[in-house]
Amino acid sequence: MSADTPIEKQLIAWLNDAYAMETSLAKVLQNHAKDANDFPEVRARDEQHLEETRRHAEQVAQCLAYFGEKPSAMKGMMGTVMGKVQGVATGMFGDEVMKNFLSDYAMEHFEIACYRSLIAAAEEAGRPEVAKICGDILKEEEAMAEWLAQRIPDIARMSLQQAPAAH
Ligand code: FE
Repeated sequence: MSADTPIEKQLIAWLNDAYAMETSLAKVLQNHAKDANDFPEVRARDEQHLEETRRHAEQVAQCLAYFGEKPSAMKGMMGTVMGKVQGVATGMFGDEVMKNFLSDYAMEHFEIACYRSLIAAAEEAGRPEVAKICGDILKEEEAMAEWLAQRIPDIARMSLQQAPAAH
């Protein structure tokens, strides 16, 4: 089915944004999993969410396919936001994992907002199959955000112990 209405066109544009978001976040998560080498539990969760993130991109592509569309290569606003998050310099103080937690936590909430708006738009467009997929993705983003939130204090404490002595 082709996109005829302005609502469908907007929904398709947002799905494209979500696709760009998931593909850039897969790269970020890959790096963060590597940074977490000394934190096996963090590394394992990052790798799990990396797999989820790659699947999210495929699921969003599936949503686009319902409209006869393929993900477009155009970088939207979200790509720019992502670039800024990726650009945060870490590593000087042995606190990469803490810094990564901060940006991952922010990004998960950006994703949560994105999928909540997509669900509303899909319902408005009368596309329950798209709303359902976005709802499934949303649950995994919320689970990741909650996991990060629970561990922030411990990661902060462990980062303090790893900090180089300042004399
Ligand atoms: Fe995510």
